[in-house]
Parts: sequence; C-alpha cells; structure tokens
Amino acid sequence: MFKIPKTHPRYESLMKREKLVAGIEAGITSKQGLIAHGRGEAFDYLIGEKTLNSARRATEVAAALLLAAKKPVISVNGNVAALVTKEVIELSELINAPLEVNIFYWTEERAMKIKEHLGKQGAANVLGDKADARIPGIEHARAKVDKDGIYSADVVLAPLEDGDRCEALVKMGKKVITIDLNPLSRTARHATVSIVDDIERAMKNIISVVKEKKEKKGKGKANLLEDYDNNENLKEVIKEMVKRLKEEELIS
Ligand code: ATP
Repeated sequence: MFKIPKTHPRYESLMKREKLVAGIEAGITSKQGLIAHGRGEAFDYLIGEKTLNSARRATEVAAALLLAAKKPVISVNGNVAALVTKEVIELSELINAPLEVNIFYWTEERAMKIKEHLGKQGAANVLGDKADARIPGIEHARAKVDKDGIYSADVVLAPLEDGDRCEALVKMGKKVITIDLNPLSRTARHATVSIVDDIERAMKNIISVVKEKKEKKGKGKANLLEDYDNNENLKEVIKEMVKRLKEEELIS
C-alpha cells in the first residue's frame, strides 16, 4: 500500500482509495467499483466528510430494525469487502447475521476471493457461493442469492446497493437498509432506511448504536420505523447539505 503521511489533509480519503486499489490487486474489488466510489466521494465533499444528523437518525432506526429482525443478512460486495472488512464481521457477530457475497460484476473467482478474504479475517458465516435462488424481476447477476440468506431474510443491510435490486428486495416484502452517499440514487430512494454517509463512518456508527441498544437490553422503543419516513429524512439530508454550504459561505 502506498504510504500516505497522517498529516496529509486528505489522509482518510486517500487511505480509502489505497484500500480499494489493494482490493483490486487482491481480486476482490472490480474496476467499476472505483468509479462508484468516486461518485460517493463527490457527495462526501458536499456533506463536509462528516456524519449528518439525518444520518444519525437513520442509523438509530437501522440499528433497531437489525436487532428486532428474525433473519437479518448483510450483503457484501467488492467495495464493502475492501473498505469495511472488520466492521461487517463485527456487526454480523453482534446481530447474529450471516454475510452474503453479492456482486454485480460476477465471476466465480471474485466471489470466492471475497469469501476467502472474509474468512481469513475471522468471518464464521459467509454465504453466496450457493446462490440457489433468484430475486424476481432482476435480470443481472445480482439476482442470484442464497435461499437461506438474502432470499429468506426479513431485514437486509445492503450497503452500496443497485437501485433495481433494492427496489426488488423491497417488493419481496423485505426491509432494506442501505448506506449510500448519494441521497438522489435510486437505491437511497427505494430503501426502507437510507444512511447517507461514507461506509466506514456509517458502519462504525451502526456498530456503536447496536452495542448501546444491546446494553439497554430492549429498553426503549423497538420499532422506530413507525415514526420514520425515509423520503422525509432524505429531504433533511439535502437541507443539511445546503445549510452547511451556506454557513461556510460557499453559496449565498
Ligand atoms: P442507483 O442504481 O442506486 O441509482 P448507482 O447505479 O449510481 O445507483 P452504483 O454505482 O450501483 O450506484 O453504486 C454506487 C453507489 O454507492 C453510489 O450511489 C455512491 O454514491 C455510493 N458510494 C460509493 N462509495 C461509497 C462509500 N464509500 N460510502 C458510501 N456510499 C458510497
């Protein structure tokens, strides 16, 4: 990995790029994944590269949903595997959810490499190589899912998801939580709960809220979704973006 000095003003952002490049070299991240990341980075500039209040609100709802789920599953693609390996494994243990490898630019080799990578880092339950069921209405490779995983899950955490698959999962009656820096993406619009934040920050926040809620042992409201409207929250994201740009006198 290229050595970036910690004092560099864009240290964290550059380290993410290094992780993705390492992911490509290890055969787990696709080249197209770099382009997707670039789109995310542009939105991260707009939000000031920090977690917005609207994202914190969505995180609370997401954590409650994951804890209340009967069969939660965490979907892992090549960017997720490269950027937040440890975090997805920690969350899967905390909420007792399998990880499922699910990639758009599918090759058996890449799927196996992601599975191996997760296994080497300590993941005990990784699905995705069986892919013995299909999400109805989806033509591409990401339709292929595991019958005991995403196909039968009630809550799916699907970070950096495709809009059409997110919509199809919701149509199947599942609650879909996504992490996506673009509040305008089809994924963010279709998901049950959209956390508009960088995946590293978002995963750390979800883990900490899940831990907090587990310590309270069910005290506090379990179904926060009743009072939550994802589209309203996405409007808040855009309001917060504009407010920040005004405060910093970048727009008038
Ligand atoms: P959609 O189909 O939902 O409209 P898309 O086709 O633009 O979206 P993809 O290319 O499938 O989206 O996925 C990339 C999405 O993930 C982008 O919307 C991008 O903003 C987001 N993204 C990329 N990198 C990150 C990251 N590090 N953290 C959070 N979100 C990210």
